[in-house]
Amino acid sequence: MILIILGAPGAGKGTTGDVMTKEFNLPKISTGDMLRKEVKEGTEIGKKAESIMKSGGLVSDDIINNILKNRVKQADCKKGFMLDGYPRTLNQAVELDKTMKELSLNIDLVVNLQVSDALVLKRLTSRRVCKSCGAIFNIFSQPSAKGEKICDKCGGELYQRADDNEATIKNRLTVYMRDTQPLIEFYQQKGLLSDVAAEKGIAEIIDSLKKLLKDKKLV
Ligand code: ADP
Ligand code: ZN
Repeated sequence: MILIILGAPGAGKGTTGDVMTKEFNLPKISTGDMLRKEVKEGTEIGKKAESIMKSGGLVSDDIINNILKNRVKQADCKKGFMLDGYPRTLNQAVELDKTMKELSLNIDLVVNLQVSDALVLKRLTSRRVCKSCGAIFNIFSQPSAKGEKICDKCGGELYQRADDNEATIKNRLTVYMRDTQPLIEFYQQKGLLSDVAAEKGIAEIIDSLKKLLKDKKLV
């Protein structure tokens, strides 16, 4: 199964993807996570991406398309995969179509997680991420059992992402509306898009998503 998870920043793409990875053993490909790793390791790509990510802008299509292309060619993607945070521009969507064609693969479904801007702001300013394993927490809705600073999955340190502050979040939303929102129509026209209400808790979102996958005969 090949799934794209679309949605504004804070819609729950990463958290939903992590649960789906566990349930269906599907690798989650998060371009955001991959970029954060490049930044942490101080690679050439990381150096180019760091300030762009801090401001809430988008890293260039060329860099991202390359990263993605190399990733989906790896062995663990043979059984299918989920894309979280890619594509994010029309150019990336067109490039993804080309990559899929080259590899004789098809996108099965594009899930559009729907949330309001107000909720996005609340969710993102209260998000915490594990430095070691990447697990995603929320100090209100999904706190770690070990408190605000320690990951209850691996004991790693929890931190607040550099782009999870109010000013950057507002810019990320503007960029989302301008560059990513057009993908909804792009995939609607291909008959691949399904909306999932994502205002509720993660358990409800996962339930709706599983039901959708069953209806579509994907699981
Ligand atoms: P979110 O979806 O919560 O905004 P991500 O972790 O997916 O966050 O991405 C963080 C940042 O990484 C983005 O704001 C952007 O700068 C960069 N990025 C991630 N994916 C892409 C992409 N497909 N194209 C361009 N930039 C990207
Ligand atoms: Zn951890």
